Amino acid sequence: MQCLLILFCGVAVAWAAVTVQPPPLIQTLSAGGDIGPEFKLDEQGRIVEDAQYWHKVGLQQLEKTIQKAKRAKENSYERKAKNIIIFIGDGMGLSTISAGRIYKGQYLKTGFGEETMLSFDEFPNTGLAKTYNVDKQVPDSAGTATAIFTGVKSDYGAIGMDTTRSETNATQGQLESIMDWAQREGKRTGVVTTTRITHATPAATYARIYHRDWECDTEVPQQSVGIHADIARQLVERAPGNKFNVVLGGGLSPMGALNQSEVRTVKFEGDTETICTRGDQRNLAEEWLKLQQNGTEGSQRVLVKTREDLLKVDVKKVDHLMGLFRNNHITYSIAREEGEPSLQEMTEAAIGVLERGTSSAGYVLLVEGGRIDQGHHQNYARAALHEVYELDLAVQAALNMTNSDETLILVTADHSHAVTFNGYPLRGTDILGPANIHKPKDPMVYETITYANGPGYFDHLANDTRPQNSSNVWLPLKLFSEAELQSPTYRHMATLPLKDETHGGEDVIVFASGPGSSLVRGVFEQNYLAYVMSYAGCMGPAKAIDGSCQNPLIGSVGTSTSSGISLTTTILPIMAAIPALISTRRSL
Ligand SMILES: [Zn+2]
Repeated sequence: MQCLLILFCGVAVAWAAVTVQPPPLIQTLSAGGDIGPEFKLDEQGRIVEDAQYWHKVGLQQLEKTIQKAKRAKENSYERKAKNIIIFIGDGMGLSTISAGRIYKGQYLKTGFGEETMLSFDEFPNTGLAKTYNVDKQVPDSAGTATAIFTGVKSDYGAIGMDTTRSETNATQGQLESIMDWAQREGKRTGVVTTTRITHATPAATYARIYHRDWECDTEVPQQSVGIHADIARQLVERAPGNKFNVVLGGGLSPMGALNQSEVRTVKFEGDTETICTRGDQRNLAEEWLKLQQNGTEGSQRVLVKTREDLLKVDVKKVDHLMGLFRNNHITYSIAREEGEPSLQEMTEAAIGVLERGTSSAGYVLLVEGGRIDQGHHQNYARAALHEVYELDLAVQAALNMTNSDETLILVTADHSHAVTFNGYPLRGTDILGPANIHKPKDPMVYETITYANGPGYFDHLANDTRPQNSSNVWLPLKLFSEAELQSPTYRHMATLPLKDETHGGEDVIVFASGPGSSLVRGVFEQNYLAYVMSYAGCMGPAKAIDGSCQNPLIGSVGTSTSSGISLTTTILPIMAAIPALISTRRSL
């Protein structure tokens, strides 16, 4: 009850000191005098970790970080970012980063490998994000992307909706994303990915839907038809998706623009290689091309489907660029197909379209290296590590093209994987090779990169038709030919038989550079990243916390409590921010 009184006090003080009206939620609370429980409780009396809960967690973490910086007399957190680029290496856990760094050095033949640096290794700030979903200890990309882009942790499989979401109600639990916040401030926005543009990570920037699998109309189950619009439709029919200035990735099929003559040279396996097709005969890519552009920056829209056409685009003249280069995901870069751009090339095109000189309001861009995850799921270690290398090139391109004084760059993963980097290989040993080849007395040669689980189990298990080694469990590695070992579809060994290797649940690292990057420090819940972007970018809920973003309600008003913490930078902004976060958008 004490905190409620403080709340009222804080509100009263702020109102007395400024003449503007308080936000609607606070008006309602004051008028009714009935605040009710701070959070909803479920039937067992536990707190429901809904949007309001996670908004408070995120804002409190921000508040805590700022107060610590103030006590240490640091003020770099105050620097504001005109532009924000967030790179997500899907599934890029710490062992993948370390192995990817060595892979880079060995691939480029610059030395042993271990001493190599990735472009983001040089970033000045790092922190660790706790990745669990509301309902899962080990998360998926939908729930984690929702946390990163909306500031609200949610359930496994949920896209842009909190844990209260419903299959039969498309408005319940809807959330706004960093892209909504950015567009409201006049910033340009874009999404680049190597996966389908409708896949979980990019989808969480623009869609609000019960389940990540509902990428096409044909995937929406009967009870949700007419209630939840599929993810591809949401990209084209609704903001923020239909206002994106850049949309680059795969996914011609869910967009209804299937390329019938697509060539597939290497056969990759796994669930992720299956795609949905539309049943409504709509070509959403063509519909996107015909969308009217509002605003004054010109209206040139361009749709490209090949690398060659992408590189021909005059990015300074194009206002809206869509590139869809593959029916499904873009092929693993280690086996790139004709006509497919690299992540670096897509990133360069995106920044070219988004950068609009000193008079613009800036931009927010997501770049996802989405296939690190999918390589791991199939135990394709080479394919996965090469994707890390490609992400590294894209980050370097962004560093080269942007002004570090005005651009916040974050590089992180949504979750980790059940991949291990193990044994005692000698310095400079091929990261994809055996760990103990230098020990001839060892009864079994094993690889430095192995998996706790996955389909690699079946490929390496001794069987009746192939000789067994002394362990009587695993095939000797020497039975695999050099061509097999070098193949992008070669699977490293997994010790537990699963059709699909699983994610890992440990924290992921966040690398940060540019204005606001010092807010990334210590260990925090993953949803905090949305508040870092919000605060640094003067957009969305945390905008209210800082007077330098010229919010009239907060301004310079401050009242000290006995703890010495300013009310205007604690409780009041948190309450003021909450209604701004919860989307009031109606479903189609
Ligand atoms: Zn995954």
